[in-house]
Amino acid sequence: MQPRDLSTHATYEAGRGIEEVAREQGRDPDEFVTLSSNENPHGPAPAAVEAIRAAASSAHAYPKAAHADLTDRLAEEWHVDSAQIWLGNGGDGAIDYLSRAMVDPDDTVLVPEPGFAYYAMSARFHHGRVRTYELSKDDDFEQEPETILAAAEHDRLLYLTSPHNPSGSTASLETIERIARETADETLVVVDEAYGEFAETDSAVALIEGRDGFDARDDVAVIRTFSKAYGLAGVRLGYAIVPGTWADAYARVNTPFAASEPACRAGLAALDDTDHVEQAVDSARWAREYLASTVDAPAWPSDGNFVLFDVGDGTAVAAALQDRGVIVRDCTSFGLPGCIRVSCGTESETKRAADAIGDVLATRDGRPTADEEVSRS
Ligand SMILES: *Cc1c(COP(=O)(O)O)cnc(C)c1O
Repeated sequence: MQPRDLSTHATYEAGRGIEEVAREQGRDPDEFVTLSSNENPHGPAPAAVEAIRAAASSAHAYPKAAHADLTDRLAEEWHVDSAQIWLGNGGDGAIDYLSRAMVDPDDTVLVPEPGFAYYAMSARFHHGRVRTYELSKDDDFEQEPETILAAAEHDRLLYLTSPHNPSGSTASLETIERIARETADETLVVVDEAYGEFAETDSAVALIEGRDGFDARDDVAVIRTFSKAYGLAGVRLGYAIVPGTWADAYARVNTPFAASEPACRAGLAALDDTDHVEQAVDSARWAREYLASTVDAPAWPSDGNFVLFDVGDGTAVAAALQDRGVIVRDCTSFGLPGCIRVSCGTESETKRAADAIGDVLATRDGRPTADEEVSRS
């Protein structure tokens, strides 16, 4: 017995966690700071922690009411109908639901390179074929409509990431609107706003609903998650916001009870704690400025809760940082072997990371320096 041919399926390479690294090195987890997975360094909202505790005693029941309550609440936040909110097991789960709803065997899915690995994984799970468009380092990962449109064919899904992981670049609503308008009729433009809270740009929900002077479109969907700004990566909760015209497809594709009772209750509590999200956003904005201005290596301006640095050899620098107890993301798996991505930590974590990166870079010859600073005007 063998599974189907999975030879073209890549496995997901997550940022490395403290427990994993500490165990491997026989060191105390307390010696490390982990800035490799763009998590909220302040933890979940206290009310969300309380909600998860309270949900424990009703864990025997299916989360029917909780699911409806959260969907209704999110619909209210976004001023859309409840049917337009597709809850999933993380943003990744919501991506799968879009694949299930849209992709027929051999349909093509266009994804950014470098980019978030799960778009291609989900496409392949659903028997789609993956095509890529390039965001170039030399062009500061700028999301130009011309470049993306030149790569587009009759794709079923076209992914945009705004802010983009790992570079932090954004796509304006004008750019997204033009791409949606000029791509084939069957192409759904999926705007992944996993880091939307940290950005200054507006949500592409305006294009779905026809707000801010745009006409309403039925070929744009948005992905959001509780994993980043809300600090709930461990509960796995995210959603898609889709156009009303085909929103009823959710009922035909979703795994029953897509999000668990503790997850739904935590999400509801987190939405009530606006101070907590504001703190996450303020702290990330401070940290990304601090990192970019302190570390002597070219950095790209980021609208996310992370900064991408060109350090010459990402694998070597990430390993040297790990020896110093600072875990960052080596971007080799993103196809950027010269880069590391550093998540925004608390103030003390961020300062410690900046110091450690400075120490490591000072010992390396021939690496790029901040004088060669990339500039996105
Ligand atoms: C983190 C992330 C997501 C979603 O992650 P989940 O934990 O599944 O919600 C989606 N897209 C990008 C670009 C991300 O970085």
